[in-house]
Amino acid sequence: MTKTVYLDNNATTQVAPEVVEEMQPYFHEFYGNPSSMHTFGGQVNRKVEDARAKVAALIGAKPDEIIFTSCGTESDNAAIMGTLDRYPEKRHFVTTRVEHPAVWNLCPYLRSKDYRITELSVNGKGQLDLEELKSALSDDTAMVSIMYANNETGVIFPIDEIANIVKAHGIPFHTDAVQAVGKIPLDMSKQPIDMLSLSGHKLHAPKGIGVLYLRRGTKFSPLMKGGHQEKGRRGGTENVPYILGLGKAAESALSHLEEENTRVCALRDRMEKGLVESIPNTIVNGDTANRLPNTSSVCFEYVEGESILMMLDEIGVCASSGSACTSGSLEPSHVLRAMGVPFTAAHGSVRLSLSIHNTDEEIDHLLKHMPGIIENLRNISPFWKEYKEGRLSASAPA
Ligand code: PLP
Repeated sequence: MTKTVYLDNNATTQVAPEVVEEMQPYFHEFYGNPSSMHTFGGQVNRKVEDARAKVAALIGAKPDEIIFTSCGTESDNAAIMGTLDRYPEKRHFVTTRVEHPAVWNLCPYLRSKDYRITELSVNGKGQLDLEELKSALSDDTAMVSIMYANNETGVIFPIDEIANIVKAHGIPFHTDAVQAVGKIPLDMSKQPIDMLSLSGHKLHAPKGIGVLYLRRGTKFSPLMKGGHQEKGRRGGTENVPYILGLGKAAESALSHLEEENTRVCALRDRMEKGLVESIPNTIVNGDTANRLPNTSSVCFEYVEGESILMMLDEIGVCASSGSACTSGSLEPSHVLRAMGVPFTAAHGSVRLSLSIHNTDEEIDHLLKHMPGIIENLRNISPFWKEYKEGRLSASAPA
């Protein structure tokens, strides 16, 4: 059996051993309800509050600004629906064309509820035009939701500048920071962000736990109406083991931030350089100067991304051809389409996303096999043949 080389950490990460260890006793030994009056539940409540403080520390927030949810998608939905609900007279929502489906797929729903939606465009590097943002804002704008870093390309938006523009109009600002938290430093005590979403399984905690950061004083109605949990901001008995796991993961992420931005970043850069230098017609998508340290979206022109993934699978390498949620469909990703990446390039794009668990040997393994994989696929690609024979003119946008 080939050893797995896991380069799909933006889809999900391995749960860290220290996280599993932290969670274990809270399934069968300390199973009390943190809301109970008895000591057995009370000790669990103290652990939940410890975890809340650890998550808060990772993003420079105050513990009471941390609301535990079931996932990043719930956090995004809660931020958006919970804000719009407080400003029912305002009917305009601003976001971007490159959001994750957790935000993007809310747009058709909001349109059906008579909201006017502005989806800001991006340029070829995946960056926004802040003048377009400025001119979109009006007295009718209820809120703005713009992701921190893109899950497919890793491109980081200038979130502080964006938030300042939005706040200058007195408009609430939410950012989906699911891919940014744990990879780059964030500090809510200094950044003008009202709401922020994060997800445990992107930072070595389990799937099914998330957080909505809600700045003190921000108007919000709970999406999950129910009990008094999370100070009445999210009903439902707390998922105690997962919350504790996320607390541990947040603590570890904080201690690994430097490694993520030095060793992991250098490993990613070596991988990218190796691919571009050894394989013709290979292009890195997005703004490479403003990017998450672990993410690389690489396009191998005139081949099919899905075929590359299958060949990589045979040599034990896990990667992705777009966001995890859109893979399985052969439609080019909406992110690359929004960037105007040509059809033949968007189809041949592969996302490689690293973590602190990746090694030099793993990258060597990829670099050894990838040129052969692409060559074999191009040998059977009609597009490559046409390109080589000079019959394929300038590529049409995807
Ligand atoms: N937002 C972004 C940018 C993501 O990458 C993801 C997951 O891929 C999500 C939101 C959704 O998070 P979850 O899987 O926890 O619902």
